[in-house]
Amino acid sequence: MHRRIIAPGSLAAASLLLAVPASAATFTPGAPGIGDPYYPAYGNGGYDVSHYDLRLQYQPKTDELEGTATILAKTTQDLSRFDLDFLLDVSEVRVNGVKATFTSSGEHELVVTPKAPLPTGTSVTVVVRYSGVPSTKSAYGFTTWHRTPDGAVAADEPESAWWWFPSNDHPSDKATYDVSVAVPDGTQAISNGTLTSASSKLGWTRYTWRQDKPQATYLATLALGRFDITTSTSEGGVPVLNAYSKDLGANDGAARASVERTGELVDWLSGYFGPYPFSSAGGYVPNTTTGYALETQTRVYYSPKQFAQGSNTSVVVHELAHQWYGDDVSLKDWKDIWINEGFARYAQWLWSEHEGEGTTRELADYVYASHPADDPFWTVKPGDPGADAQFDLAVYDRGALAIEALRHAIGDDAFFALLKGWPKTHAYGNASVADFQRYAEEVSGKPLSSLFDTWLFEPSKPASPATGASLARSAAQVTPPKSWKKIEATNDIHGH
Ligand SMILES: [Zn+2]
Repeated sequence: MHRRIIAPGSLAAASLLLAVPASAATFTPGAPGIGDPYYPAYGNGGYDVSHYDLRLQYQPKTDELEGTATILAKTTQDLSRFDLDFLLDVSEVRVNGVKATFTSSGEHELVVTPKAPLPTGTSVTVVVRYSGVPSTKSAYGFTTWHRTPDGAVAADEPESAWWWFPSNDHPSDKATYDVSVAVPDGTQAISNGTLTSASSKLGWTRYTWRQDKPQATYLATLALGRFDITTSTSEGGVPVLNAYSKDLGANDGAARASVERTGELVDWLSGYFGPYPFSSAGGYVPNTTTGYALETQTRVYYSPKQFAQGSNTSVVVHELAHQWYGDDVSLKDWKDIWINEGFARYAQWLWSEHEGEGTTRELADYVYASHPADDPFWTVKPGDPGADAQFDLAVYDRGALAIEALRHAIGDDAFFALLKGWPKTHAYGNASVADFQRYAEEVSGKPLSSLFDTWLFEPSKPASPATGASLARSAAQVTPPKSWKKIEATNDIHGH
């Protein structure tokens, strides 16, 4: 456990620090949002979280969740009070062991006022006790806690934490996690990272999961239900744990035929992106009716619908590519979404080429030719799409097209060095589209602002194809590469 035990001596030292005459007037409330231009109320100001320890109990019959969250953080300003993002009913909050007052505000803010103000740079342990029925809670008119016949799933983007743990809900504040969940015997609890224990007592089984690498809040996941769990190790040595709902029905075979290839696909992607960044890999397929998949860190969420047309390794490649592009290196703000989706889509193109179902060049030419200049597709700027178009098809397809254009401009040697170098350069951190452009210029030695403007920031169709090919044909004359349907089957992803 990462719980910090504060020795009496250091408590005295902390009190002395507090006694230093810092006038109360310098202590101000932390901002209710972290400053994201798309989602001003998401995340919070004034502190930085390093670890979440969640100890939960869940009853699938009633959807009742109760728990204690222990949050380790450090203040980044002189704080008189601070916010967490959360929707369930809170019974008690303690800050460094002392009861704090709290109230809810806005759509999803839990406002905490500690008994004594917190000077900047203070290590803070916040304990929140809570309970509630997550499926009955909504914010902005929606809920992303998805009930299933045998339990529930928390997996959504950009928001899913509010329904199951209090957090600083923004990808720029990553932290490690211990998630321990008690469920009735016969039900399983699936989460991120490594399963460190599962033990039964008095009719309840407690599952304990550890994510020992920094993880964005939207990449934390929890699934409760009746699952079959499989484990293996990839040839490259990555431990794999997958879970399948026992009630997948007709989709069961195709889901397993796809997701059981996780180890092989992680190893294949490592050839492009470098060593797999986490201590475990895998996915889970709950019995949901939602249609999307999500790159929840180390344990990808798949909807059974992804496999309704048969096995689909393309979607598995997409979500696993995010483990490097999105999870290991996370966006700074939500407007940087192209780094996530463009590269995950491009990985599907590379897989298509590997499978002999269409080269990246053929896919790029097809995307370019199949959208005429007056198609609204071209009005979306993948480099800054706006909150409403954050998960628009253009972020994926035009986003991948931009990557093929970059490859064409800088050549294969620089391009593949870039693909592998980016996760290494920003390992476990955050980076923006501007950071990516700078890095691409550094690796290739070429000025790229005009190329980035054309493919990522102009609201119109670029004058010539990404690959430099001559495409005189009309869209109707262009035949989609064989992989096209499988790639597009992953479009129904994200959002709520
Ligand atoms: Zn994606």
